[in-house]
Amino acid sequence: MFFIWGRGGNRVTAGEATHQTCSTCNDVTQFNTVIDYRFFHLWYLFSFLTSRQYAVVCERCGHGAYITKSEFKQTHHKEKIPIIRKWGWLISCLLMVFLVSYAIYSSKQEAALVNQYMTQPQVNDIYFADLAKIDSSGYNSEIHAYGTMKLVGFEDEYYLFAIANVAYDKKKGIPKTLSTIEYVENDDEIVALTEPEIIELKNSNIIYDIRR
Ligand SMILES: [Zn+2]
Repeated sequence: MFFIWGRGGNRVTAGEATHQTCSTCNDVTQFNTVIDYRFFHLWYLFSFLTSRQYAVVCERCGHGAYITKSEFKQTHHKEKIPIIRKWGWLISCLLMVFLVSYAIYSSKQEAALVNQYMTQPQVNDIYFADLAKIDSSGYNSEIHAYGTMKLVGFEDEYYLFAIANVAYDKKKGIPKTLSTIEYVENDDEIVALTEPEIIELKNSNIIYDIRR
């Protein structure tokens, strides 16, 4: 992860103040109340103000005099500093809380669904597993062989699985389009597992997902 951070500043006009004689312009000009603010940001969104100075300045040349915050508040209600600069830090914190809560919620939902698939199985359910730990016939059990098993039927207390004909050393190797995966369906290659065995494999994370 790399950081994009920086500082910046700007002047916002909070409103009109008075007409008065500007010593620089040597004329009667419009004076506005302004705020010069500086901010710090991380990835642009996480942002907070590092300084604010209130002033009444000539609209034409920009010269004027600083005023205090309380003097500013006597005549103006709003600072008009962009919300993202002033409250970006709070917005990003709330966003983070929301995203984390949502991630926890969806992973709980997904875990509940996987449990339901495990206890109420249907033919054609697809189990994601480290196949090397289940069917050692074709794999060296010391390495990972991530792949899928398709539930093809039941016999007594056994769930019968056809094993994918290709496995991968990383989980992400498994094709996203599950329908493209081919299975070895001849009888002597079928793997039979009881429900307690499947639950045990799930608890030890050897079976790590089930899709329907
Ligand atoms: Zn001026």
